[in-house]
Amino acid sequence: QSVLGIESSCDETAAAVLDGEGRILAEAVFTQSEEHARFGGVVPEIAARAHLQRLGGLVRGVLAEAGLGVGELGGIAATAGPGLIGGLVVGATFGKGLAMGAGLPFIGVNHLEAHALTARLPGLFPQAPAYPYLLLLVSGGHCQCVAVEGLGRYRRLGTTLDDAVGEAFDKAAKLLGLPWPGGAHLERLAATGDASAVKLPRPMLGRPGCDFSFSGLKTAVAQAVAKGLYRPQDIAAAFQTSVAAVVADRARHAHAMLPGATALVVAGGVAANQTVRASLAAATPLPLLAPPLRLCTDNAVMVAWAGLERLRAGQSDPMALAPRPRWPLDELRPPDEVAVT
Ligand code: ATP
Ligand code: MG
Ligand code: FE
Repeated sequence: QSVLGIESSCDETAAAVLDGEGRILAEAVFTQSEEHARFGGVVPEIAARAHLQRLGGLVRGVLAEAGLGVGELGGIAATAGPGLIGGLVVGATFGKGLAMGAGLPFIGVNHLEAHALTARLPGLFPQAPAYPYLLLLVSGGHCQCVAVEGLGRYRRLGTTLDDAVGEAFDKAAKLLGLPWPGGAHLERLAATGDASAVKLPRPMLGRPGCDFSFSGLKTAVAQAVAKGLYRPQDIAAAFQTSVAAVVADRARHAHAMLPGATALVVAGGVAANQTVRASLAAATPLPLLAPPLRLCTDNAVMVAWAGLERLRAGQSDPMALAPRPRWPLDELRPPDEVAVT
């Protein structure tokens, strides 16, 4: 049975339809960066309004492309957290309304679970990773290492003590005078620079566990810029090299914490960074699985897929399910342990 997925937790409004096997029938994403760029970051109220304006059209569009009416679906899945509450309320309420009207089961999906399960989408990799595997989620809002041990069974092995890695990229880019969001701009600038021309710290490198910290690195970038002695491209290259080294070190530690892991899966916008990717590929003997970028950043295919996995296992969430701005992965349960209503 086909599933409609809805994503609205941050600054991407997205809808997608999968068939009962998990094949993508239609997908659409609207990225709001234009709306937020002049504020240098995501403004929650603007994001919520933009979701409200876009979501209906996106959903109609993917249903039309899939050739399905709402009544022909087998269920509806919408992100219910974690994220910005305004956007979550828009997406989850829209999904519940559609489900209620058509008498379909509804699933409130955890956004982090959706990122974690993306690598299992049929056809994405020659072989879907078997449990347990490691997930390294590196985005603008999240930075964590997770042991994925089964559907609904996650153990967070480490997280950031301050900034998320994408946030660090964006702040460093801002200090270098690049537009927001700056990660991709910084990577382009770094390509022409010499990383060895500037000495920057590598926070947490070699420390036990796999926590991250980026605020010291950001301060060092601010100081290097303020000195006025270095070329911006060299600072960018040194910053990127430091991040890549730290991320690789953390991945090595994560593997030591989950020696039985079958793969290292990356997700989040920073997975687009070639230097970070190359360093991750060399970090552990595990196969590095990087989904295509459009499935690494926020999207509704992953939400529909997580919903499909739970629907197939018999789960259906109550209409009273409230969106949660904070919803750590550790609090999730497998479908058969979630109270059926
Ligand atoms: P969430 O954390 O909820 O998933 P988000 O919108 O912040 O939300 P993504 O959309 O996954 O996260 O990714 C955006 C982040 O990825 C931004 O911080 C952006 O700068 C960073 N990014 C994108 N491309 C690159 C790149 N080539 N190199 C480094 N960072 C990048
Ligand atoms: Mg985003
Ligand atoms: Fe995300």
